[in-house]
Amino acid sequence: MLNDPRSHGLWEKTAPEPPATGPLEADAKADVVVVGGGFTGLSAALHLAQAGCSVIVLEGNEIGFGAAGRNVGLINAGMWVMPDDLPGELGEVHGERLLNLLGNGPQVVMELIDRHGIACELERNGTLHCAVGKAGLKEIIARASQWQKRGAAVTLLSAAETAARVGSADYSGSLLDKRAGTLQPLAYVRGLAHAAVRAGAILHASSRVVSVRRVGGGWTVATAKASVTADWVVVATDAYSTGPWESVRREQVHLPYFNLATRPLPTKVLDSILPGREGVWDTKEILSSFRRDQTGRLVFGSVGALRHGGVAVHKAWARRSLARLFPQLGKVEFECEWYGKIGMTDNALPRFHRFAPNVVGFSGYNGRGIAPGTVFGRTLAQLILREIGDDELPLPVSDIREPSFRGMKEAYYETGAQIAHFAGERF
Ligand SMILES: Cc1cc2nc3c(=O)[nH]c(=O)nc-3n(C[C@H](O)[C@H](O)[C@H](O)COP(=O)(O)OP(=O)(O)OC[C@H]3O[C@@H](n4cnc5c(N)ncnc54)[C@H](O)[C@@H]3O)c2cc1C
Repeated sequence: MLNDPRSHGLWEKTAPEPPATGPLEADAKADVVVVGGGFTGLSAALHLAQAGCSVIVLEGNEIGFGAAGRNVGLINAGMWVMPDDLPGELGEVHGERLLNLLGNGPQVVMELIDRHGIACELERNGTLHCAVGKAGLKEIIARASQWQKRGAAVTLLSAAETAARVGSADYSGSLLDKRAGTLQPLAYVRGLAHAAVRAGAILHASSRVVSVRRVGGGWTVATAKASVTADWVVVATDAYSTGPWESVRREQVHLPYFNLATRPLPTKVLDSILPGREGVWDTKEILSSFRRDQTGRLVFGSVGALRHGGVAVHKAWARRSLARLFPQLGKVEFECEWYGKIGMTDNALPRFHRFAPNVVGFSGYNGRGIAPGTVFGRTLAQLILREIGDDELPLPVSDIREPSFRGMKEAYYETGAQIAHFAGERF
């Protein structure tokens, strides 16, 4: 997008077209204006439009421009935080509510895809959280038992069972989460956009919101060309936030993450690598992830930005990693490369903000936004439609909290990943 081949890579190459949208050219009115055309904004718009609300979505760039169009495509259940720790972090009521809601998050996504016939390479075969060494095994054993206690469909796999599913003997075991799956993220977000338009929402791309002001009982949000006046504003700009809600970006530490896609692999090789098509990530501190796309490409990713010296360092490391993990691959060619920024919060949990009366939003998904963004978008619609009250929200209302040393932490992530990948997998 924006003529940058490293912004959305493979996903842009293989996603169906988005609905035709143009910039907001004239002043308009609606019940709700949604700012941001990612999973959160489009799920909110879809659910609101289906309920008969008039909705206008303003997206500063293109549909899926933010993290929605750049991610790995793992439809995860739950968050990074251990299930048993959530009630301690958020209080019993919000903790249990969030666990239930996000534990069922992949199911919400899959049902939405089915209902709206979204073509997005959906695979319902689960994900494998692969353990590296003894420490990794300890982590997934604890995670498995905490989810199993709650009746979740997760299974602990031995090293041999993991090797048979992954096609690599590198792991000491894995947690198979059958609730989860994979999809083509840009195709999914574009599919949500089509569904929202069919339900009656109006979408404007290239319509960056630059200001907001109170008008009577409502709000007027303006782009450089025109404005929308509405009773409610949904702020769904997350890590890519600019304009009046730049504070959302300031409360996060951005973690760069890249993906590289191989050319479609020969059938013989594919028979041994993820034959069940699960999505994978590992327990390393600088984690790696991989999955297949529909045409048999392997999408391999890790922490780091594909800019400046990072391009050569991360690609060379990925080649070495793949050679060790999957010697059967032989010499690897990458067809596409891309990266984006993940919005991390200080307690690794998302936030609900009430920026002003009737101005609301969720953000800070810590690299797990496909299911949470979809679910929270629906929650915002339910709140606006008064189907739920403030006391039924999955998160408490929080003030914007800026983390200390944000700039230093971001530089550390980018440089640290480069140093680790420069040295990694050499011996
Ligand atoms: C590389 C990478 C890998 C990831 N992997 C996964 C994964 O495998 N699984 C998973 O669940 N999650 C993953 N994530 C996280 C997930 O992609 C995000 O959490 C999710 O996209 C957030 O959705 P969103 O709709 O809230 O925000 P976004 O998708 O970021 O959308 C926000 C939109 O707001 C627009 N915007 C910003 N400011 C304005 C403005 N002033 N006016 C108008 N529009 C504006 C932006 O242009 C953008 O399109 C990953 C993220 C990255 C970057």
